Amino acid sequence: MTTYAAPASAPTRYRPRHAAPEPEPEPEPIDPPAPATAPPPLLPKGRVHVDVNNNHCKLFAICQQEAPDVFELGPDGRLRYRAHPRAEHTERVVQAARCCPMQAITLTHRSA
Ligand code: SF4
Repeated sequence: MTTYAAPASAPTRYRPRHAAPEPEPEPEPIDPPAPATAPPPLLPKGRVHVDVNNNHCKLFAICQQEAPDVFELGPDGRLRYRAHPRAEHTERVVQAARCCPMQAITLTHRSA
């Protein structure tokens, strides 16, 4: 009579039929979701005060493209801008400040 003996390195799926199944592993505990909080506002509301740092400004005129009612690169090569633009221009001024490659535009919130 011939008997079969599985080698020690045989895969476990060849276990004999009478062997008990291996228990399922315990699932990893899931962290509870973080409480929802409102993100900080990205755009200042209302009116802003505009300031341009002339030491940083390289006259790329990207701000003029974004907010032509507020920024203007004159024929003399100087940048002119409205320091107190109207409230309806705030969104475009914020976009101009974001797009300025020299980060030369500073905006501060104006309450009135
Ligand atoms: S985009 Fe910035 S660097 Fe270019 S002109 Fe305007 S303020 Fe100056």
